[in-house]
Amino acid sequence: MQFYRPTWAEVNLGNLAYNFRQIKKMVSSGTKIMVTVKADAYGHGLIPVSKKLASLKVDFLGVASIDEGIKLRQAGIKIPILVLGLIFKKDAPALLRYRLTPTVCDLQIALALDKEARKCSRPINVHIKVDTGMGRIGVLHQEALPFIEEVVKLKHINIEGLFTHFPFADMDRDFTSYQIGLFNRLVNDLKNEGIRIPLVHSANSMGVIGYRESHFNMVRPGLAVYGLYPREDLNGIKLRPVLSLKTKVVYAKRVPGGFGLSYGHTYITEKPSSVVTLPIGYGDGYPRNLSNFAPVLIKGKRFRISGNICMDQVMVDVGDFAVKAGDEAVLIGSSGKEKITVEELATLSATIPYEIVCGLGSRIPRLYI
Ligand SMILES: *Cc1c(COP(=O)(O)O)cnc(C)c1O
Repeated sequence: MQFYRPTWAEVNLGNLAYNFRQIKKMVSSGTKIMVTVKADAYGHGLIPVSKKLASLKVDFLGVASIDEGIKLRQAGIKIPILVLGLIFKKDAPALLRYRLTPTVCDLQIALALDKEARKCSRPINVHIKVDTGMGRIGVLHQEALPFIEEVVKLKHINIEGLFTHFPFADMDRDFTSYQIGLFNRLVNDLKNEGIRIPLVHSANSMGVIGYRESHFNMVRPGLAVYGLYPREDLNGIKLRPVLSLKTKVVYAKRVPGGFGLSYGHTYITEKPSSVVTLPIGYGDGYPRNLSNFAPVLIKGKRFRISGNICMDQVMVDVGDFAVKAGDEAVLIGSSGKEKITVEELATLSATIPYEIVCGLGSRIPRLYI
């Protein structure tokens, strides 16, 4: 890949494969795995990540929208794809055309899908979403049984899956167990009514790692596959970070003490210092609220972003450390003995690791290693 600005993200597909295998070891052998690759595979690159996962025999990919699903199909990916977000009636032809599996929790939509499937003389697989306490999409669990009984009547719809989602598996054990209980009860009620749904799933990364009883016969991790932990202090699984963010010093100069840096002069040098400029900024999704907080590694030594983060550039006061244009700087990843994790940046930025990686813009080329 040809690019001139020396700012890039390295995506280590070997580590992705390692994490996938770690997750596989945590679930029983008959349990299928869907990896969520929405939002450009959490910023890691939809197509290269999905191709790697396909080569590792992942069972399903999860995307947020039909558009993401079509991109996968156009890249030649043939494995089943669940669209986790909702669709409109008008979208039925696209789902059939690209063989994408929709999430269903509305009878009108189910009817439109049934009609379109009949027109194509091919049944359509759907997964039904049940709300056991997320309060987002999904039929309320109390109303799920009669709803499913209606959908079962539609001849051209095949209910392949049933699923639910956890709002705080990372924080509230009791609530998550309660949700699993509600979901189990529904599965049993369906069985008693003679309705058999082949795939039952609920576990996100935290579910996979922390709740054996949430695995059912398919799990749906995202974050952990990218080597990120849904919570600190998780023993029992070792993950390897997949993404590093790197750049190079484009300019270095000596400035006097008492010298203000960047917009607003929120940083003033204490003494005569070397100040370097790095070509990355909030225009790349590097959060501006990390100004004066975020660590940076240059030649194995830890520094801090100095002054406000600009749209395309940031400065670092490196004191008397010898740094010149062309030296590498690491914003996420390791250099020498030092390491900056996505989790560390997320904490400093008062957000979650998901937002840091999803936020990295398309202006940053991804290099696959
Ligand atoms: C994104 C998503 C997941 C994966 O969650 P992680 O916390 O990244 O493991 C699972 N299920 C649904 C419905 C999702 O939207």
